[in-house]
Amino acid sequence: MQRLYEARDRIEAQLLSDFLHRHLVDNAIFGDYLSGAIGELPADVYPSIWIVHDRDQPRARDLLACFLAGSSRQTAPSWACPGCGELVDGSFEICWHCGSERP
Ligand SMILES: [Zn+2]
Repeated sequence: MQRLYEARDRIEAQLLSDFLHRHLVDNAIFGDYLSGAIGELPADVYPSIWIVHDRDQPRARDLLACFLAGSSRQTAPSWACPGCGELVDGSFEICWHCGSERP
């Protein structure tokens, strides 16, 4: 069993765990049982995702990359186009209205 990723918090750990399970990668979360007492613990104690079968590790890394890319896109803020003033969703690099690049 190998550790794949150290999550920022329990929610991210659970989301990633569910995501991997949906892609048939057996995994487990360790460390999250500590989160109830997080205020008394050093800041470097975070829940970690462990991959049960070593043969799944390469695929799990690919899925992790997709997971992280997807979650960062969702949280990217919208931006106002400098060319036409249109408000563009944060997942786009160019304005859908006039084609200007994100400033
Ligand atoms: Zn524009």
